[in-house]
Amino acid sequence: MKTFHCNHCSHLVFYENVRCERCESLLGYVPEVAEISAFEDAGEGRWRSLHPDLPDALFRQCHNYAVENVCNWMIPADSPDTLCRACQLTRTIPNLSAPDNRLYWYRLEMAKRRLLYTLAALGLDVKSRQMDPEHGLAFEFLEDGGDGEQVMTGHDNGLITLNIAEADDAYREKVRTAMGEPYRTLLGHFRHETGHYYFSQLVQDNPRWLEPFRKLFGDESVDYGEALTTYYRDGAPADWQASHISAYATMHPWEDWAETWAHYMLIVDVLDTSTSYGVALLPDDPSEPTLTDRTPVEDASFENLMKRWFPLTYALNSLNRSLGMADGYPFTLAAPVVDKLRFVHRVIAEAGDKSRPREAAAVAGAPAPAAAPAAPPPLPLSQPAGAAAAPAPTTQPAKS
Ligand SMILES: [Zn+2]
Ligand SMILES: [Zn+2]
Ligand SMILES: [Zn+2]
Repeated sequence: MKTFHCNHCSHLVFYENVRCERCESLLGYVPEVAEISAFEDAGEGRWRSLHPDLPDALFRQCHNYAVENVCNWMIPADSPDTLCRACQLTRTIPNLSAPDNRLYWYRLEMAKRRLLYTLAALGLDVKSRQMDPEHGLAFEFLEDGGDGEQVMTGHDNGLITLNIAEADDAYREKVRTAMGEPYRTLLGHFRHETGHYYFSQLVQDNPRWLEPFRKLFGDESVDYGEALTTYYRDGAPADWQASHISAYATMHPWEDWAETWAHYMLIVDVLDTSTSYGVALLPDDPSEPTLTDRTPVEDASFENLMKRWFPLTYALNSLNRSLGMADGYPFTLAAPVVDKLRFVHRVIAEAGDKSRPREAAAVAGAPAPAAAPAAPPPLPLSQPAGAAAAPAPTTQPAKS
């Protein structure tokens, strides 16, 4: 992700910020230009942008920003919407009468917005269910029921379900350890599940990609339920690292794709961030790789991305060790995994429309017509027993 600055005082600000730490200006993200803007109060709930790309433009805060404090996106003042484009994608929010659920909701929305930023940077379409009831994307943030009903994190035909317990660090770490995973994050869940969604949008019915996909990932028509049972009974093959990005990716070609897709998103986001900060590597030892290339990730060839990625990960993990923390990047990329990542890159490069600014790409399909009634904010729904996503081919327990 690129860096942002307060338009009032030039202080460095972050994608998640709502106030400038230095001058206390209100900050908000404007997806139309993919920028954080500082604002001044224009009265009646309207805010005037101080961003040079948005001279005097008036905005309102998303309802989930102004009232719920879980969002920081802005809406054009004359829009009929009450929710921003990101919040419109969430169909069910956690039951806010439970004490920790608002924090979990905040963390879920934050991870979702970061995902949306990367998708838009790559020029990928994100259509909501309202725009496209058949192929649109929607999120449900559900909680395990009191009767032991378990919410499965997963994807079913554009509907992505997240178990909100994944936003509880202690829970997620416990599951990560129990499953023997080196890496488990909320953002990773969002990336993985949207991988399933984009498989259905870009690969599944596309003759150009389906055969090359099968050559690399295997035959996705093999029975998913059987593959799942086998995986949880026998685990991954001992030598899975020679061909897969994670043990879980060995379960079924769909999961291999979703894991690889998620990994590609991770690489692009981290490289985008380091490039924006001007991070360069100029090691004393001339045999070590340097990193000075600053090609924007959305314009970079796959070879360019890989060439920059490896030296960055060595530095990243060394920095983490100096912090006394586990490696931030606990992965190795075997040649077949690189080939799969290259395939994901090609699919995205062909599908992505780079003619639109980063976040604007996230709303292909045009804004709601002026006459459309304002969308009501989602009600804090409690989940009745059995509200979890119905068992579907791409839904699986525990690990998303
Ligand atoms: Zn400021
Ligand atoms: Zn919002
Ligand atoms: Zn999956």
